Amino acid sequence: MLLVDTRTHDVLAQIGSADFWDKGINGQVDGTRSSRSPGSTLKPFVYALAIEQGIIHPLSVLADAPRSFGEYNPENFDRDFLGPLHASDALARSRNVPAVSLAAQLSHPNLYEFLRRADVPLPEPESHYGLALPLGGAEVTMQDLVRLYAALANNGELRPLRRTAHDPASTRGLRILSPEASFLTLQMLGNVPRPEMNCADAASAAPVFWKTGTSHGFRDAWSIGIFDHYVLAVWIGNFDGRANGAFVGRTAAAPLFFQIIDSLRANWPEPGRTLQPPPNLKRVKFCSVSGDLPGALCTDLVEGWFIPGISPIKTCEVHREVLVDVATGLRLATDDGTREIRRETYEFWPSDLLRLFERAGVARRSPPPFLLGTASELVARSGNSPRIVSPLPNSEILFASATAIPLRAKADADVRDVYWFAGKTFLGKCNAAEMLSWKSTPGDYELTALDDHGRSAWCNVRVR
Ligand SMILES: [Zn+2]
Repeated sequence: MLLVDTRTHDVLAQIGSADFWDKGINGQVDGTRSSRSPGSTLKPFVYALAIEQGIIHPLSVLADAPRSFGEYNPENFDRDFLGPLHASDALARSRNVPAVSLAAQLSHPNLYEFLRRADVPLPEPESHYGLALPLGGAEVTMQDLVRLYAALANNGELRPLRRTAHDPASTRGLRILSPEASFLTLQMLGNVPRPEMNCADAASAAPVFWKTGTSHGFRDAWSIGIFDHYVLAVWIGNFDGRANGAFVGRTAAAPLFFQIIDSLRANWPEPGRTLQPPPNLKRVKFCSVSGDLPGALCTDLVEGWFIPGISPIKTCEVHREVLVDVATGLRLATDDGTREIRRETYEFWPSDLLRLFERAGVARRSPPPFLLGTASELVARSGNSPRIVSPLPNSEILFASATAIPLRAKADADVRDVYWFAGKTFLGKCNAAEMLSWKSTPGDYELTALDDHGRSAWCNVRVR
């Protein structure tokens, strides 16, 4: 374990192993300098970079869904998927898919470039780690992790650790994150609930901004975080790499982590540190359902942080007004004056997210179907056209006769089926949330995805 003062970067306590003299546990290995899989403890930096690059704000809605990234299919620790959730919850609950999905969207720096810049040794080229990097795919030392977390506490400035009074005190650090992204990431880490355990009364305790980590195959259990003016890291594992099913960050390392914090606070009391937001941050209202800026129809609003000029400024497209025929309860495309209508707000979710809500057992207020006989061109004009997400437009696909090409489109909430065409040839139809397998032959194709409201999208692909 390692305890560092975030003001001076002085190492206040360092315990390299459970017993220096015990050869049976390789007691003379210094665990704070050993390279180990960090599990999920690097995830906060994915979120920090995504916030800094304007990809998300803490209340953005992310999909926690089975998804494949090329050949990489990340699963969650509990092998379950929660559905759509706010970014801050996705981090607090350490969901894998949202973290990998965000990591895939990062650019300059991505997580690899960020770690290299922070002087974290990564011996292999970036392609070796790929998208497993945010899930603990590269080994790092506890000392490097502590330096990175200390930077979160220091407005994004990285400084070396000081072991002796002779080490130079560095006045200026290396900026690796913006003050806004550092603050918001810490805020999100403050939402991680303490594990249930018999130590100090958690409800009244001062805040702890922390994260757990469990390496693949249960070899490393981590707990690391910031409290008051300190960074504390706790690791539990075997130096010879032996796995143990009990090596889970939350149940093995977190109790010791909080025992240390509680005893430090009891014996070494000092005023708790309240996080001060950087001056550029604003509190604004978001639609609590979509996590986007509210439109006129959003009624359930929630306040959250926003970085002007950086955070995404998408307005809620989920809440839309629909004309409903009073007699039948069905939807109308226009008010032609012949029927009694009422205006109602419904939720329009993209088909993939709607499917996730269904799977998670969360009912959404989806719009009713159109009244039979509604003119199809009027229906087609309402709502959003599908968007082809697989294959990528203008892509070249290597022909392999054994495998089929997955066709997938993102359709609007009121779509049940998507019809696929190559040129004028009908390829088949599939449920809007699913994909169609296309057994293609080499050639150039214009692919069309047509939804059951007559809205379409097309793209060119070459199969060779
Ligand atoms: Zn809304």
